[in-house]
Amino acid sequence: MDSLRRLEEIFAHFPGIGPRQARRFAYYLLGKPPAFIKEFTSLIEEVKKSTAECPQCHRLFIGGNNKTVKSGASNICSICSDANRDQSTLMVVARDSDFESIEKSAAYKGLYFILGGTVPILDKEPDKRIRLKQLLERVQKSAPKEIILSLNTTPDGEHTADIVKDALKAPLYLGKVTILGRGLSTGAELEYADSDTIKNALKNRN
Ligand SMILES: [Zn+2]
Repeated sequence: MDSLRRLEEIFAHFPGIGPRQARRFAYYLLGKPPAFIKEFTSLIEEVKKSTAECPQCHRLFIGGNNKTVKSGASNICSICSDANRDQSTLMVVARDSDFESIEKSAAYKGLYFILGGTVPILDKEPDKRIRLKQLLERVQKSAPKEIILSLNTTPDGEHTADIVKDALKAPLYLGKVTILGRGLSTGAELEYADSDTIKNALKNRN
């Protein structure tokens, strides 16, 4: 495979990108001057180097001075280490992009847990798709009063919510498990929901 095809193939693996868009991206880069390519590639390297995964919520964040933060370093993120956030509420989301939308809405002041994806219906090994084991460990350690499941109202999202809810039962967890209210219409993706919708869905959780 030549390098252009390989580049197209990589872009085609990006979320939401089909083969036709992937080809357009590849040709777009081909048409750019060397200085742009240099900046683009070194920017990717720099972001990757300065990104850390929070060992507590598993979200990816840019960890300040990239000389001191190594990729995968075990430093806790600014939200998990913020004593002003409500430590008794834990919100479970599928991806970093969902977390971003909820933070942007400013409707939620508790802590988070990023599952790392959703489980497709009929999938036999949910443990390989989501951080279920890590979530249960986290819950046992911190014993939050309420766990809010904030997953897309798509079939995969609802299936994932069922799996997580099933796992969060007594005696492992004795608190309350709530699900975002139906202000979020069926098929809704949190990533694209506006702040008012998120605020309402959070208020109407049950
Ligand atoms: Zn964190």
